[in-house]
Amino acid sequence: MKVVIDPGHGGSDTGATGFGLREADVALKLAELVGEYFGKYEGAIVTFTRNRNTSSSYPGPPAGLRKRIAYANSTNADLFLSLHCNAGGGSGFESYIAKGAPARTQKIQNAINDSVLGYLKGYGIGPHGQPAKNDSQAARSRIAVLRDTKMSAVFLLYKLFIDNPKEYKLLRDRRYLDGLAGVIVKGIAVAFGLKEKVDKPKPRYRVMVDGKEIMDTAYEGRIIELITQSLKNK
Ligand SMILES: [Zn+2]
Repeated sequence: MKVVIDPGHGGSDTGATGFGLREADVALKLAELVGEYFGKYEGAIVTFTRNRNTSSSYPGPPAGLRKRIAYANSTNADLFLSLHCNAGGGSGFESYIAKGAPARTQKIQNAINDSVLGYLKGYGIGPHGQPAKNDSQAARSRIAVLRDTKMSAVFLLYKLFIDNPKEYKLLRDRRYLDGLAGVIVKGIAVAFGLKEKVDKPKPRYRVMVDGKEIMDTAYEGRIIELITQSLKNK
């Protein structure tokens, strides 16, 4: 499963600001955490439309929306996940998908929403109106990254209001963002049926020298040393 993570804004475009906090920075921090959480699942491949505080697409030249979209469409990804904060007075969480998006996309949106809203409840935060929105219901003009990306699932996620005093505090809290990243990826994992990686225990060996057991549970790296030692002591 391939996902393109799109941290909103970047470079000279700070996005919304609230109390000195910049949306571009929050989006990037969250994007990096989301990328890390995908590492917990088998077969998840993650790329980003930008890194650090540039508007560069990664890898590639400085990118505005059109270049981000072109980059995403060149990757044959299954999911485009655009991360933004809300602003303009208000509170709560909401997410958008494109107008006319297929049922599959709605299913992914709902899985993410369920997971995220469960987490936000713990912080006393609920949805902003109906949390699962499609672009036709959006107050703003139609959202280019939703309209023009070609992958089977397309997403835009709003994560709280940067100019709301309570929510601003959460958006600058690394622990909150880390938890949020975890539940976003968990929702996606549910929708795509991703399996968590299991750390396989390293094999251990019984080491015998001249018919005598010298160690019953040796890791591979120690075997030669154990045998050498045993032969020396003979
Ligand atoms: Zn934004």
